[in-house]
Amino acid sequence: MENHHLAYNAWGYSMGLFKKRNFYLLLIITAILGSLIGYFYFLKNTKEQMLDSYYKATAQELQKRVDHLIANKQKATLALAITLAKRDDKLAEYIKQKSFPSRYFSDLIAAYKKSTHYKNIWIQVIDAKGISLCRSWAQLHGDNLSRVRRDISTMMQQHQSMTTISIGRFTLSIKAMAPVFDKGRFIGTIEIMSHFNSIAKVLKKEGWKSVVLAGKRYKKQLTHPFTKTFIKDYYVANLGVKQKLLEYLLHKGMKRYFKNHYESDQYNFIVSHPLLYHKKLLGTYILIKPLDMIQTADIEGFVFRWLVFGVIIFMVLAGVVNIYLYIILHKQKNYYKKIIDSSNNIVLVNDKKSIVDANKTFFEYFSKYKTLEAFKMENSCICNFFVREDGYLDRGDTTYHWIDTIIEHPKANHKVKIKINEKIYYFAVNASLISQEKNHYSIIFSDITKEELYKNELETLSIKDALTDVYNRRYYENQIEKEMHSAKRYHYDLSLIMFDIDFFKKINDAHGHSVGDKVLIHLSKSISSSLREGDSLCRIGGEEFMIILPHTKKEDAIKIAEKLRVMVANDREILPITISIGVTQYVSGEAEKYLYARVDKALYSAKENGRNQVIIA
Ligand code: GH3
Ligand code: MG
Ligand code: MG
Repeated sequence: MENHHLAYNAWGYSMGLFKKRNFYLLLIITAILGSLIGYFYFLKNTKEQMLDSYYKATAQELQKRVDHLIANKQKATLALAITLAKRDDKLAEYIKQKSFPSRYFSDLIAAYKKSTHYKNIWIQVIDAKGISLCRSWAQLHGDNLSRVRRDISTMMQQHQSMTTISIGRFTLSIKAMAPVFDKGRFIGTIEIMSHFNSIAKVLKKEGWKSVVLAGKRYKKQLTHPFTKTFIKDYYVANLGVKQKLLEYLLHKGMKRYFKNHYESDQYNFIVSHPLLYHKKLLGTYILIKPLDMIQTADIEGFVFRWLVFGVIIFMVLAGVVNIYLYIILHKQKNYYKKIIDSSNNIVLVNDKKSIVDANKTFFEYFSKYKTLEAFKMENSCICNFFVREDGYLDRGDTTYHWIDTIIEHPKANHKVKIKINEKIYYFAVNASLISQEKNHYSIIFSDITKEELYKNELETLSIKDALTDVYNRRYYENQIEKEMHSAKRYHYDLSLIMFDIDFFKKINDAHGHSVGDKVLIHLSKSISSSLREGDSLCRIGGEEFMIILPHTKKEDAIKIAEKLRVMVANDREILPITISIGVTQYVSGEAEKYLYARVDKALYSAKENGRNQVIIA
């Protein structure tokens, strides 16, 4: 029993551990998934940060580049202005005379247009007092510019070349001014203006669309707009800008483009750079490029590589954890398997159909089979070996299952009688459900063969007579009650034969007690062997016997009694003896004492009548 409990507990415990392990497994999987998500999140953030700094760097570089291109253009324009200022003496002459021939600059501008990509330049000559003497783009002259333009008044004081960005009546433009000297005396200024188109062209080659906007407040001032293009109150200072693009910018709100700024939306990357002159905001240079043209492939590639790397690391990690868990589980399983195998009891895992697992002891009993598969090839169930007998578990049929019997009556002592290779074993059986979902039961068979055989022997001893080996009086008393009950219930006949040896005292006296015993033994044997199966011979007194005859009418009992009387009388094997016999039949419902009294009386009558005869009552 102790063993049995140990095995049972070990089994249950190992099942418990499986569940615990599942819990840990779940925990680890959750942790791995969590970190994986964390890692993705981290990569996503990293990518965003990288893109952000990439955009920032791109914007800053572009802004510098715009500055650089403007500065270059200013320098080129200035170089031209200085060259013009020192071209010949005629210029000084014309300034002094305050009169220029018509088309004075037109040849120069035409040549310039032809050989450079600066397609539009304008030239103006101003005298030492700031009065416009000649304009290449208009007939107008004689107006005093020193009053309206700060750069002109600066030039009048300092007589130094300078470059600016400014807004006049025509456009937002890049300007260069060079002083004109006549024999060392400042006599006027040459001013050359160019616009942003050439810069836009350079940037266009790099994929950037340019929009050069003048500030809102200059709208009124621009009375003769060069490009003729406005979007709302903003003058567009470069040529060839599509209306759609302007509307797209307007839709986002123009204000933010008037500072150093960059942004990206779904489609475009936009960078703007304010155009300042002496801290005064004149306009802004806006650059637009479709997002898919921005070179972010490096970043994508970088992130992708790390993503792949991360996934591989996590997969390896998950694999390692899996293998580790598998090994642990395997060890644990082996450990408990050893415990279960060490049990002297047969331990099975069974579903309702067949055996799922069996311990070592099982194969010690069913030694014909080496494996469970081999067993299952020939036997659908261990219950095939059950022997049907009262008091032992039946293998069951389609309506009920032997496991159910055990499960439904957990407190009862279930026993099975099992026949293996013509050898009988007795087992105490216990079963418990170990997996609801799989419908698995653990079943333990503890060998009780020794105890059971001993018990059977004791039982036999208690109902048999020690001398003659026929049933004793106690058995008679129990059995007659049972038989009377059955006869009454199932309406069958029941008869009794009672007999006693005639003058037995004399035999004892003449031959000794041990010869008397021998006579008793021999008589019992010969009478037993001439009775039918189902009849029971009981020694109820010293040399007094009773035969219970179920399913027997009085008439048949008489015949049997007579046959026995003759048989004994003719038997000379030990000593010649005779018996006197009383016969009677059970009257349904009567008490045993009346039955007994009647047959006893019949026997008495037989003795009275001269012995060796049968009397019926
Ligand atoms: P009757 O014909 O009237 O029955 O005469 P009887 O001598 O048989 O008388 P009774 O039945 O009264 O005597 C029974 C005797 O049987 C008494 C006893 O000595 C003897 N006896 C009883 N039990 C045993 C036994 O176990 N062994 C032997 N050897 N003798 C026994
Ligand atoms: Mg007698
Ligand atoms: Mg007697």
